[in-house]
Amino acid sequence: MKDCIFCRIVNGQLPAEVVYEDDAVMAFKDIKPAAPVHILIISKKHISTLADAREEDKELLGHILLVVNKLAEQFGLEKGFRLINNCGADGGQVVFHLHFHLLGGRKLNPSLGV
Ligand code: 5GP
Ligand code: ZN
Repeated sequence: MKDCIFCRIVNGQLPAEVVYEDDAVMAFKDIKPAAPVHILIISKKHISTLADAREEDKELLGHILLVVNKLAEQFGLEKGFRLINNCGADGGQVVFHLHFHLLGGRKLNPSLGV
């Protein structure tokens, strides 16, 4: 989608530190990391928010979670990690292209921070 920064990363129009890519999914380091490991896992297909995902996206959503596991292993997060999806304006979403935050590499605050 035009004017979507994550679509521009998928298309190679914007640089990113890509750590994983396949036909459906891309993962890259967050530009402003909140933890030693902070990776964004996105669908290549433009879906604005998790709430916009549909039945046809079921396989994609499951695949994203297994990519998260792969990345957690790759980045040595065997002691645990946190996976976050901010959905919509009230959910604190800033970039309206489906993405999940994979955070780890230190003991994270147990608070949900809400
Ligand atoms: P949201 O609040 O939408 O869940 O999170 C968006 C995330 O995208 C933020 O953590 C922000 O730092 C990250 N981000 C925004 N623009 C860019 C960018 O151009 N490149 C990368 N790698 N991350 C970005
Ligand atoms: Zn997009």
